Amino acid sequence: MTTLPRPVTLQGRLSAELQKLHDAGLHISPRVLEAPQRARTRILGREVVNLASNNYLGFADHPFVKERAIRAVQQWGAGAGAVRTIAGTLSIHEDLETQLAQFKHSGSALVLQSGFTTNQGVLGTLLQEGDLVVSDELNHASIIDGLRLARATKKVFRHKDMADLRRVLEENPCEGLILVITDGVFSMDGDIAPLGEMVSVAREFGAVTYVDDAHGSGVLGEQGRGTVHHFGLQNAPDVLQIGTLSKAWGVVGGYAAGPLELRDLLINRARPFLFSTGHPPAVVGALLAALELVQSDSGFMERLWANTRFFKAELKRLGFDTFGSETPITPVIFGEAEAAFAASRRLLERGVFAVGLGFPTVPRGLARIRNIVTAEHTRDDLELALLAYETVGREMGTIR
Ligand code: PMP
Repeated sequence: MTTLPRPVTLQGRLSAELQKLHDAGLHISPRVLEAPQRARTRILGREVVNLASNNYLGFADHPFVKERAIRAVQQWGAGAGAVRTIAGTLSIHEDLETQLAQFKHSGSALVLQSGFTTNQGVLGTLLQEGDLVVSDELNHASIIDGLRLARATKKVFRHKDMADLRRVLEENPCEGLILVITDGVFSMDGDIAPLGEMVSVAREFGAVTYVDDAHGSGVLGEQGRGTVHHFGLQNAPDVLQIGTLSKAWGVVGGYAAGPLELRDLLINRARPFLFSTGHPPAVVGALLAALELVQSDSGFMERLWANTRFFKAELKRLGFDTFGSETPITPVIFGEAEAAFAASRRLLERGVFAVGLGFPTVPRGLARIRNIVTAEHTRDDLELALLAYETVGREMGTIR
């Protein structure tokens, strides 16, 4: 009788993989918030100033947004009950898409479960063999994973380098669809894509520009309409606006805004849309409220930007390197991952919650703490955070 080789056990696989993460210093375990997602929250039993969220406008725990979520549950129930294409499309789902299309000035919008699945769904649907995709090297992981699903030729251009984009387009002539893909605002550095120039270069080659505006919507452009509006490109037929509803909008979801036919094709082909249940009514009600709030009260964006300018200017005055950030995403560079993680722990001891990020999330030697300022922070919150930064920065020799 031949003896079969013994397969790896489940426990063996789990232990080996975890050990690799520990050995590389890359193992993480999430901090747990013991109070709602607000500018001040509670961690490990103490109140902290929260600089770690994507809750730019403070909508995640806003009374009006919560109220509309509750009303949607009362009117529509707890769940959608099916995938959108079978029986899970309620009229509030379509109301949200109509509102979003108006907000983005696009012919249509389709809402998917998350920003992550939106990139998978749209890229997986649009791209075919023989197409060309040219992607900024710092684009988000969901774009990279979405591109793994596509059979198109994939090329990368240097971060925001338009001469390099042109080089790649020249070196890769293509008769299929050409997509130039960029984040609107880059999630780790907080810088803005040079969309005006990018769209001009793309147009010379007949390419479509695909903007993932996860961190630009609710932050840039008139009434928070996003990076595409910031550059006045909202009516361009060759620019697609992709985004998330989980950051400034404070809830969860993703959307693709573009011509009517894009929505129609995605409904028929985008696999996350076709094979995963639609949003529960509470999510949709809350998102409708968030869209209403940002358009009816300019105070949210004004406070967001006043806080952003103050916090960045003070960090620079203290001598920190904020790495050219232009938006509320404010990195503070500490060099090696260990230093960034240690600074994050020390800040927490001083009542400030801000997360350290190292390789592979950011390049080696550029480990940082990523701070995100929100509309909800008061001057007191930011001054407390700055004092903690000053103390920790001096202790660690990051500033003098
Ligand atoms: N794109 C970008 C640029 C992002 O920063 C994120 C959020 N991490 C996503 C997509 C994914 O969005 P979501 O959290 O809605 O899945």
